[in-house]
Amino acid sequence: MAEHDAGTDTAPALRTDLFVDGGFRPAASGRTFPCVSPRDGRVIAEIAEGDAADVDAAVAAARAAFEDGRWRHRHPRERRAVLRRLSELVEAHREELARTESLDMGKPVSDALAVDLRVTVQTLDFFAEAVDKVYDQVAPTDARTLATITREPLGVVAAIVPWNFPLMLAAWKLAPALATGNSVVLKPAEQSPLTALRLAELAAEAGLPPGVLNVVTGFGPTAGAALGRHPGVDAVAFTGSGEVGRLLLHSAADSNLKRVALELGGKSPQIVLADAPDTETVARAVAGGIFFNQGEVCSAGSRLLVHRSRKDELLDAVVRASEAMRPGDPLDPATTMGALVERAHLDRVLGHLATAREEGAAVVTGGGRVLEETGGFYVEPTVLDAVTPDMRVAREEVFGPVLAVLPFDDEDEAVALANGTPYGLAAAVWTRDLSKAHLMARAVRAGTVWINCFDDSDVTVPFGGYGQSGFGRDKSLHALDEYTQLKTTWIRL
Ligand code: ADP
Repeated sequence: MAEHDAGTDTAPALRTDLFVDGGFRPAASGRTFPCVSPRDGRVIAEIAEGDAADVDAAVAAARAAFEDGRWRHRHPRERRAVLRRLSELVEAHREELARTESLDMGKPVSDALAVDLRVTVQTLDFFAEAVDKVYDQVAPTDARTLATITREPLGVVAAIVPWNFPLMLAAWKLAPALATGNSVVLKPAEQSPLTALRLAELAAEAGLPPGVLNVVTGFGPTAGAALGRHPGVDAVAFTGSGEVGRLLLHSAADSNLKRVALELGGKSPQIVLADAPDTETVARAVAGGIFFNQGEVCSAGSRLLVHRSRKDELLDAVVRASEAMRPGDPLDPATTMGALVERAHLDRVLGHLATAREEGAAVVTGGGRVLEETGGFYVEPTVLDAVTPDMRVAREEVFGPVLAVLPFDDEDEAVALANGTPYGLAAAVWTRDLSKAHLMARAVRAGTVWINCFDDSDVTVPFGGYGQSGFGRDKSLHALDEYTQLKTTWIRL
């Protein structure tokens, strides 16, 4: 097995091979691809480049594990214990995993610890506990029949995840999938394969039987697409772009009608009404809502819709708040904004900024690449004023630290602007008026609405989109529905 050093004395060896049927192995083709750290543009590992042949092997292993019941037929208490052990192992290795995540995809290591690792552990815990606490149902039929409604696992679930929260999003999918007895083939993004491989290793250490969790690293159009069209995959749980979401729906239709759950992008509005709470509080939430994780967040508050009477004062405060989020070395614990994930994405974000300028947006702060001398991919926190709804930066997801500011004059206009994109992932409303808050929350088309806060989340609360932000829900007991089907059994007494 190929092993590389993560670049420090204390870092453990990185896992770089596919994890199939309980063990690491190279890709069938023998090919590898370089894993580049966005921190400095350096290659930190060579990763096995899985493709259709490896997907076949992983799906076969997952299928065999499902059919012989080595996992789903274990006593629920035992399955709970294995998943609990996995959460404890992740907790015990949190520093290492946070560091690997930061090195691999550029987020600040302190955020990786405080958010990604904390949420991953909570997610594994929550669904472990659900294993032996969720009951099935008996239908209210007549006195001479017994009709039971039971949840059954789907079979083989492919989890295809992106690079912005690699470990956390993998946990959002595989924790409920495993808790309900499925087998999983996890395909991490090619930009961020490292923590998924380590997670699989820890799962084996926790006692998850071989074949129940497999990880195929590789590229989207090869390994990812092979999962999408595979007749042996019963469901795809996907987080990523709308384009790929559509491809997966086509593949499902063209193959075996596998179930597809999609969590896609967003263009989430922060709606600040004239009677919003104090400006400093709102400004901190607006800045944090777009600059956290370098803006690489599907629910990022990328549009600030602000009542004209509050705009100038709020923009000043947002600019001040953004000063606290200067890009820096992701591995420095003091850093609050890291590097964009890869060169191609840096170019995409800079392209959006160039177009916004050409279309007439005014740069209030930021606007360009910084720390170029490091070789890394850093962009300043950027605020764009004079944005109009027809500009690209007001309609398309930038997935970078770029805030588009659009003023409004009345609340109907605010709702029209908020709902004026095909997306519907999240929105926030800032107001002191209770009735307005409720009415706006109802009027805004989004899977999550925050009132006087932003980015609040908990594993007990579902997350997912309306409209072209996708369908299906991660987290909470509702996520169990994504990985199970209902069986009704009639018994004539
Ligand atoms: P982004 O644009 O944020 O990189 P993508 O949707 O391209 O988002 O990637 C999210 C995940 O989807 C990654 O794991 C990627 O490898 C995978 N992917 C990309 N293209 C395809 C495809 N054609 N079929 C299946 N998965 C894909």
